[in-house]
Amino acid sequence: MPLNLAIDGPVGAGKSSIADEVARRLGILHLDTGAMYRAVGCTALRRGVDVNDEQAVTALCHALRMTVGYENGGQRTCVDGEDVTGLIRTPEVSMAASTVAKYAGVRQAMVALQRQLASETPMLLDGRDIGTRVLPEATVKIFLTATPEERARRRYLELQQKGAQDTYEQVLRELRQRDEQDMHREVDPLRAAQDAVVVDTTAMNFDQVVEAILAIVEEKAHV
Ligand code: C5P
Repeated sequence: MPLNLAIDGPVGAGKSSIADEVARRLGILHLDTGAMYRAVGCTALRRGVDVNDEQAVTALCHALRMTVGYENGGQRTCVDGEDVTGLIRTPEVSMAASTVAKYAGVRQAMVALQRQLASETPMLLDGRDIGTRVLPEATVKIFLTATPEERARRRYLELQQKGAQDTYEQVLRELRQRDEQDMHREVDPLRAAQDAVVVDTTAMNFDQVVEAILAIVEEKAHV
């Protein structure tokens, strides 16, 4: 089995950007699994499928062809041959992703694709259920977290940089709503695997988190 690293955690814990940098430093690919649920949610919205209709979303998910590729180290997520990477970062798609991610049929399809990708090459996967469901045998498991207020502050700054109009209160409310959905859904809820190392990033900056994770990887995987 190739070297597989799992990073899980709630929204705004910094998983994606941290995972990108850690993977780059280790010279392995980073699979952002959230992008895959986002691509399903985004496609439902674009094709007029009600995201609250489990049957319809599951049928859509089984009918579409998702592929993940890499361009200059960056992940490109495609649906039926169309690159949707640029369309999946809006707050509307975030909520849709969290909703469609509750459905067992959607999760089965995504987990199967994630396992297949991870079996082909050394990879760092980030998500909500990597250590608990996708790769229970992962070489290293990390659970990244921070207080809701700090996570909302980071998301808010990120959205502001993109020119979004959302207020901090709005971002915090949506983040709590997504936490609630992600932690309390029936299928594979967000939680730390028993053997995961928990890293609380509330008082840490980007570089400190990257260094902390690299040290854990070195200790556990001897790389
Ligand atoms: O990580 P990101 O915020 O991009 O994920 C979007 C949504 O996809 C999350 O709110 C979560 O509901 C879902 N997700 C999941 N399992 C994963 C990754 C993401 O349920 N492994």
